[in-house]
Amino acid sequence: MTKDIIAKLKENELLGRGGAGFPAGLKWEMVKSAKAEKKYIICNCSEGEPEVFKDGFILENYPKDIVNGIKIALETIDNSSAYIYLRKDYFDKFKSKLEELIKGLPITLFKKTGGYLSGEETTIFAAIEGKRQEPRIKPPFPPQKGLFGYPTLINNAETFYHIAKIAKDEYKKTCFYSISGEVENKGVYELPKDWPIEKILKETKNFPKFGPSADEASFFVQAGGGVSGEILLPNELSQPVKWLRAIIVFNREKTDCFALMKKWVNFFLENNCDKCAPCREGVYRIAEILEKNKINKQLLNDIFFVLEETSFCALGRAVVVPFSSLIEKIL
Ligand code: SF4
Repeated sequence: MTKDIIAKLKENELLGRGGAGFPAGLKWEMVKSAKAEKKYIICNCSEGEPEVFKDGFILENYPKDIVNGIKIALETIDNSSAYIYLRKDYFDKFKSKLEELIKGLPITLFKKTGGYLSGEETTIFAAIEGKRQEPRIKPPFPPQKGLFGYPTLINNAETFYHIAKIAKDEYKKTCFYSISGEVENKGVYELPKDWPIEKILKETKNFPKFGPSADEASFFVQAGGGVSGEILLPNELSQPVKWLRAIIVFNREKTDCFALMKKWVNFFLENNCDKCAPCREGVYRIAEILEKNKINKQLLNDIFFVLEETSFCALGRAVVVPFSSLIEKIL
């Protein structure tokens, strides 16, 4: 079974479910073929964005599948050992169950101590190595030089879940969606990975019914990565959800857009690492502008441009997505 797992991952075109969407088979092949005396596997269970809670759901309901996926990686990659990297509340909640499942295996549980950014892959290496939690420059990429300088395979909990399914030929090309906000049936749903947002909301009985009709004026959604997701209008819901597959529904009439943007900016202020000036200063300036409850679009666009073009890591670039889409479409 494990002999041809890399071929199976490629055949099934599995993309990592941690947001970046890198082909899993290719990543496994790179780590397997890297020349080194030791290699590491990390299962990332650190999901830290508000309104993204699917990995927690999988840990709660399918921990055996996650561990089976890691076991397959251990069998596939020579001289490897593994870490399950858990955000604090997941560590406390699932520790005993996971300890039972990993008994006798070279797998260590690691409790995350930092905020959202400490779920970024190179920041995870820094955390496990006991260093300051900030991202490292890439390349070298983790399959070449990762944890403690050794080739490292890092996938998130959902990816390992699907790998276990693929190994048993039970993969149905699904993914897990976190649905929240002004909906009737908040929760996590496993559904086909290419369903459009509109269909997902209708099938889960979460399609908004605000006002006399669910028209363009009555709601909007934030889709993708929780707080860093893109704002979409009802006429834009014929596309699948990207990145972390979170969908948040807002009642347009009841939503105070400035309060919402202040909530986002506070999240980014608390969770950026202050390593680079564009993000450290840029996020601070956005907060300063929002304090006035008045938008200077030109100034904000200049800040967004600098964040997108010069931020050191993906968090700085992700900051732009929610603000620019909300300002363009709603304000
Ligand atoms: S973009 Fe933000 S989070 Fe990333 S390194 Fe710079 S300050 Fe840190």
